[in-house]
Amino acid sequence: MTPLETQLVAKGVGLDVARACAELFGSYEELQLSEWVLDASITGLDLRSCRKLMSSVLWAVQANAHKGEALWRAAELLGRLTNNIVACGNSVEKYRTIRKSNPKIREALDVMAGGEAALLAAGFREQPPGGDTLVFPSPGAAPAATAPAPSPASEGGPDLRPLTVINSKLQQLGFTGSARENDDTGSSTRSRHSALPGFRYQHEIFECSCCGRPINDGSDRLVTRRHDAPHGEFRYECERCEGYNLCEQCWDKFIGGSLSPGHPRDHPFQTHHPKASQHNLRSNVSDTNPWGVVLNGASAARARERLKQRTGL
Ligand SMILES: [Zn+2]
Ligand SMILES: [Zn+2]
Repeated sequence: MTPLETQLVAKGVGLDVARACAELFGSYEELQLSEWVLDASITGLDLRSCRKLMSSVLWAVQANAHKGEALWRAAELLGRLTNNIVACGNSVEKYRTIRKSNPKIREALDVMAGGEAALLAAGFREQPPGGDTLVFPSPGAAPAATAPAPSPASEGGPDLRPLTVINSKLQQLGFTGSARENDDTGSSTRSRHSALPGFRYQHEIFECSCCGRPINDGSDRLVTRRHDAPHGEFRYECERCEGYNLCEQCWDKFIGGSLSPGHPRDHPFQTHHPKASQHNLRSNVSDTNPWGVVLNGASAARARERLKQRTGL
């Protein structure tokens, strides 16, 4: 046994877990840094399975972190669904089925892309394959071939431990995530407008410095795919005055000379394209940047072009 193995066994860690830890880590300190080790020792799952499960959740969070509050709400919903099964020890039939066609669930899985993979890793099966229902095996079902070795306490049926790990992580994310998003005095621009229809998924809400209107960036339309969601608008941000933004209408008037907002005319502006239109144009949307990036340069030219299209001038 390595010194680390001896140390872990002395702390009451199982021999298997201790051996796996010794393979992965140089020292006890290094090991302590890994949160999933804690999950492994709590659930009794082997370290590798635990690491795989944690990575699936971590990936889903990292890939969607820019969606802010919507992501935490999605994690909360998936956490609640998985907790239903864990809390009753998989004894209640109706909790085993998750219908992807349910609008709320569809939305959560869309927002938290990768969340479905985490559910599959936790033991859910798609039924029929490629179908719209995720089913957790009933206690009478044979364990999946890919499932980790059954725990000593299990009486056949599916292993609940992977689901327990995923569930606790999702719930933790849903809880701490929404706590973080709501941790403001209630006076931020986001919280003042986030309840407005069409602004639910917008991470950052800017007000027009001229007319005071919140500027919709098209997030809701993009996330919900609803045709009655408001179209995103262009936002024009002064590059010199921090927090000076103009909405489309005020910008058109400003450029056309019919608006004198008491703001220097020679300041350069940056154009922020609405997310939906970027998406539709597929201009700068990629797999790694599904929401498109903020466009720099050529912004004034583009704005004039848009003005020309709109007014025919
Ligand atoms: Zn305005
Ligand atoms: Zn300015």
